[in-house]
Order: sequence, then C-alpha cells, then structure tokens
Amino acid sequence: MTNAIVFLGIQGSGKGTQAKLLAEWTGYQHVNIGDLFREQIASQSEIGQLVKSIIARGDLVDDDTVFKLISSSLQPSIAGIIFDGFPRNRAQAKFLMANYKLQRVYYLSLGQAEALKRITSRRVCSSCGENYNLISRTPKLEGICDLCGGELKQRGDDSDAAIAQRVKEFYAQTYSLKKLFADSGLLLSIPASKGIVEISEDIKEDFNSL
Ligand SMILES: [Zn+2]
Repeated sequence: MTNAIVFLGIQGSGKGTQAKLLAEWTGYQHVNIGDLFREQIASQSEIGQLVKSIIARGDLVDDDTVFKLISSSLQPSIAGIIFDGFPRNRAQAKFLMANYKLQRVYYLSLGQAEALKRITSRRVCSSCGENYNLISRTPKLEGICDLCGGELKQRGDDSDAAIAQRVKEFYAQTYSLKKLFADSGLLLSIPASKGIVEISEDIKEDFNSL
C-alpha cells in the first residue's frame, strides 16, 4: 500500500503551508482536495463535470466521487501522498486507513477564538488578487494594495457569518476524526501558534522517526 500522511487543521492554522513544505522535503505528492476539485472542473473531465454539477446544486461532493477523484489524480510510482483537506468525515478516514499505509496525522491545533481572528484578518486585492493579512502581512497604506493600489477586500466567502459557520463545522467534524486517529496511535498535535519554520522542523524530526 502507498504511504500516506494527513494534515488536519482549520483555515488559518498554516496546514496548507506545512503540507507543501513536507511534500517538497519528502518527495511525496501533495494532494489538496480543494485544488483537485478546481483542476478537474477547469479541465472539464467527466469527474470534473460531475463535481461541478454537485457544487452548483449546493450539495457536498459525496465520498465515492472524492475517492474516485483522488485515485485518478495520483502520479504513478510515488513514494507517498500528503493529504490536505481530506478526510473530512469518519467514512473518508476509514477509506483512507483501509486503502493506504497511513503513517501519521499532523494536527495543527488552533483555538476557536484565534482561528476566527486569523481568518477575519485576511484581505485580498480586488484588482490583482494579492493576499494580505491585517495581523501578519499588513499593507503599507490601510485598505490599499502595495503592488497595484487596488482596494483590499475580504474574500466573497469570508463574511463574518460564513466564517463563524465554517469554524463551528470544522470543530464538530474534526473532533470525531481526531479521536479516531488518536485511538489508532497516529495523531500528533502541534500548536499552530509556533512559527512556520519551527513547526516544519518539528514535523521533519517526527517524520524521520516513523
Ligand atoms: Zn493589487
């Protein structure tokens, strides 16, 4: 079975950054489920058209479609896979454990209040798309893009109500997954409050011990 690593963490935890760093370091394939959806939709593949119609209906993409999408996106003869944004529920977690050699689940832990603060601080330039953060990457002039002078806005899906809903759903789903992985002895929890480099070093050290 193919080796697999999972990153769990709420938006703003730095999970995607760490998944990417570990993928570069290990040579594992980084599989970000959100990106997979977008790529397949853009390529107008059969699965892409299916995913598009499901999302257009406002439904969640069902587990079977997610599994198909993952299987079809894997590169041949890879050393392993780093999952980012998957699994989202217990059925997906069980599929993962049955079909891959799950080596470790890294959970970047971040309290609800801090997560809300980080996500609501994000801004994007309405002209060029550059990303900012009012805590960690502030523009030189308030509300104005450093690069092009465009107006900075919250992302469309970053309204306070939408964010609060996503944060609540995340903790509800993740609680059950964390327990499942912890019971299997696979979970390693790392405080997301540490710096990017420090977290990355902790993860590499742990990975070497696997
Ligand atoms: Zn700009």
